[in-house]
Amino acid sequence: MSPIRLVMLGAPGAGKGTQAERLGRVRGVPRISTGDTLREAVQAGTPLGRASKQVMDSGQLIGDDIMIGIVKERLSRPDTRPGFVLDGFPRTVAQAVALDRLMAERDPLIVLDIVVPESELARRLGTRMICGDCGTNADGHEAVPGRCGKCGGPLVQRADDSNGVVLERFKIYQRATKPLVEFYRERSTFRSINGAQAADSVTADLAAAIEAVGNGRLNAAGGGNTR
Ligand code: ADP
Repeated sequence: MSPIRLVMLGAPGAGKGTQAERLGRVRGVPRISTGDTLREAVQAGTPLGRASKQVMDSGQLIGDDIMIGIVKERLSRPDTRPGFVLDGFPRTVAQAVALDRLMAERDPLIVLDIVVPESELARRLGTRMICGDCGTNADGHEAVPGRCGKCGGPLVQRADDSNGVVLERFKIYQRATKPLVEFYRERSTFRSINGAQAADSVTADLAAAIEAVGNGRLNAAGGGNTR
């Protein structure tokens, strides 16, 4: 099978993380979440973590050079050879340009944009709980209420999900990340998916989009139409 290289786009709360995790599992490729990488660094108290905590808690973005360095190193590891699912990167046009450079000579990226109205995003983030110990998102079906289904840790609100910070993250998304959709839109490997449906339906739509892009590529290779 040819390697599958996916980029998930979408506003905070669109469900990128959940879907990226599922796609990675089904395809047997690593999900690379830059948000998780940074949160782990904060938890571990590394220099990167110490430098990032305040920036993240206020909803701002970490600098492009740092993020590009992190992802470049991660994508050089052998487990990404069969492919990967990028979740949270690129988040700026500068990061997308750097990613294209890293991908030169390889198969094109498949870019999936999960679209959800802002009112629904705000509702989701306002009620989202995560485990204070392992960071897993709670799904509301935990065996012990208020405790993580995976490790039993206490469920808490993510620092950057509090009201004021969510508004700031939406603003930054509009300003810095939304232009990425225009950056990728004209590519034959770009697809938009309706994220305002049940998670399983979103997963099915994403799988269908990946299939369609793959078929387009095969047709293109055989000289056929790519769409
Ligand atoms: P979200 O739920 O908003 O999509 P993530 O978990 O992906 O959030 O990321 C949380 C925070 O980590 C971001 O608000 C930002 O501060 C930082 N971060 C993650 N990825 C990047 C990136 N590619 N560039 C800059 N900052 C990033």
